Order: sequence, then C-alpha cells, then structure tokens
Amino acid sequence: MKWLITGGAGFIASHLTELLLRDGQAVTAIDDLSTGSIENVERFRTNARYRFVADTITNASLLRELVDDCDVVVHLAAAVGVRLVVEQPVHTIATNVGGTELVLEVAAKKQKRVFLASTSEVYGKGTKVPFQEEDDIVYGASTKSRWSYAASKLVDEFLGLAYWKERKLPVTVGRLFNTVGPRQTGRYGMVIPRFVGQALRGEPITVYGTGRQSRCFGHVADVVSGIRGLCESEKTVGQVYNIGGVGEITVHDLAVKIRDAVGSTSEIVRVPYEQAYETGFEDIERRVPDISKICLAIGYAPVRSIDEILRDVIDFERGREAVAPRSAAGAA
Ligand code: UDP
Repeated sequence: MKWLITGGAGFIASHLTELLLRDGQAVTAIDDLSTGSIENVERFRTNARYRFVADTITNASLLRELVDDCDVVVHLAAAVGVRLVVEQPVHTIATNVGGTELVLEVAAKKQKRVFLASTSEVYGKGTKVPFQEEDDIVYGASTKSRWSYAASKLVDEFLGLAYWKERKLPVTVGRLFNTVGPRQTGRYGMVIPRFVGQALRGEPITVYGTGRQSRCFGHVADVVSGIRGLCESEKTVGQVYNIGGVGEITVHDLAVKIRDAVGSTSEIVRVPYEQAYETGFEDIERRVPDISKICLAIGYAPVRSIDEILRDVIDFERGREAVAPRSAAGAA
C-alpha cells in the first residue's frame, strides 16, 4: 500500500514511517518543517519506497497530486503542544481547521482512506475518568487561548465525520493521548522529554502547578501500531477512537521517577501555571483514556510500560546530549 503522511517529519509520523517501511509499504511524507524536523526522517531518505516533500499541505495543487498517488492519507499535520498553542493561537486555529478541510476535500474527490489525528485535548476539562469517546465535552471560556486547540481539533472531527456522512469519504478519527518516545522534542512543552533533559543536565525539574495532575503515557511504538490498525480495518470507518496508554501517574511522581531513572541530583521545583503558560491557564487534572473501543475493534493492546518509555527516552536524550550538550539545553 502507498501511504501519504501529512506532518511527515513529526515525531509520531517518523515512528509510523519506520513501521510501514519495515513492512515493505511505500510512504510519501509532506511537512513544512515548522515543528517537524528533517533529522526525524533523514534515515529513510535512502529507501526507494520513501519520498519526502518539504512543503505545506495548504499548497492545494501539490496536495492533489500527492493524494492521487496514494491509497491512504494519515493526516498528522497540526499545530501541537500546549505551549505553542498558547503562544500562537492564530496559527493554531488556521493550521488545524484550514489544513484539515483541504485534506478532506482533496481526499473526498478520489475517495481515499483517511486517518484524522485528533487529540485528548478535545475532552476539555471534563472530570469523568476515564474519558470515553461518547462523553459530553466541557471547555473553558474563549478568552483562555488553551481551549482554541481543543475547539479547532473538535471542528476537524466534525468535518471528518461530516465528509463521511455526506460524501462517503472513508474517515477514521483517532484521539491521541499523551504519546511519548525517542525523538520527541520538549521544545513545545511536552513533559517527559523536558524532565529527562533537565535531569540529565542536573537542572531543576520544573513541575507546573501542584504536580498532583495526572496523565497516562503511551509509547509511540504502541500508538503507531494502533494508527496503522485503524487504517487497515474497514469497520473503523466513520468512528472515533481513543488511542493511548495505561498506567496513570501524577506529574510529581513522574518527576521523581525520571530523576531516579537518570540517577540525577536535580532539584524538583514547582512553577506556577501563570509563569509556565499564561495568567488563568487551566490544566487538565486527570487525563486517562478508556481504550476499550479500539481494543475491541482492532485488538489494540499497549504493551510498553512507563518504565520502558522512560528507558527509551533517556537513552535517546543521552545520545543527543553527548552530541550537542549545550544546544540540547536550549532546545528544552
Ligand atoms: N508539565 C510540567 N512541567 C513541564 C511541562 C509540562 O509539569 O515542564 C505538566 C503540564 O502542566 C501537564 C503535564 O505536565 O500537567 C503534561 O504536559 P504535556 O504538555 O506533556 O501534555 P498535556 O498537557 O497535553 O497533557
């Protein structure tokens, strides 16, 4: 099969590419390199079944050409990371809504299979645990820019499902929960690469808020196998699925675990949200996915534990620190 991956130089895309190429599939990746990194895909470029296109998905004629030439579109291009979203809300909304609309419109003309990457952010500040696909959704006020990301991705979901309903475009929506692994950058706020980088450099580990907020982390290798499984199944068309890991952990406990795993002497410090993000920032207290729907549909079973995730990220970050100790500090 021929796969087109938008946002193809991103962290998740690079792991999906690795999985697909390993299995003899062909992959074309398009990425404007705004948050994706060419280093993520450098290793694939000698593979004859791989093609990388450095451009934006809003280049409609190019997008049409790429979509024509593939069987499946995995739409991962998006503005991601809470910090980026808070700092650049215009860019976030425009990229997430405009880009997705174009992908769907172009794919619909040729009835190509589409996977739409959504996010656990769409659950907003719901307090019901775990989050289930059919749950009601509660957001904060529109004056709080964090919610623009959730709202923009929710519009993407509505659009995708509308294309399925009205135009029979075979779309599947995947709500990705906290996905972690080698090659993820802490630059846009993601907690694990940030804590690991801080611990390795002996810098203070910055726990935002009380540290009692919790997350369930999924290893990227598990997550990309879920994305692939959803794309390869016919019965997932027109459906929304949570994709995430198991094993809830508070941010404070995570900081301690990372410090211990690294063998670091870093101090663990508390940083108020208004200092970390913006005044009035609202965090999600518990973000835990119910993954029974995807398990039932495709036999999805995340097998990698938080300890394995941390081991892989620490190994990767150690390698990065060894190559460029100071620039890595700047990046985090
Ligand atoms: N976080 C933190 N220190 C950091 C970065 C993030 O304490 O340096 C917290 C953040 O406030 C949130 C959790 O870690 O409560 C997960 O953050 P991330 O941005 O990785 O994911 P998300 O907020 O989207 O779940």
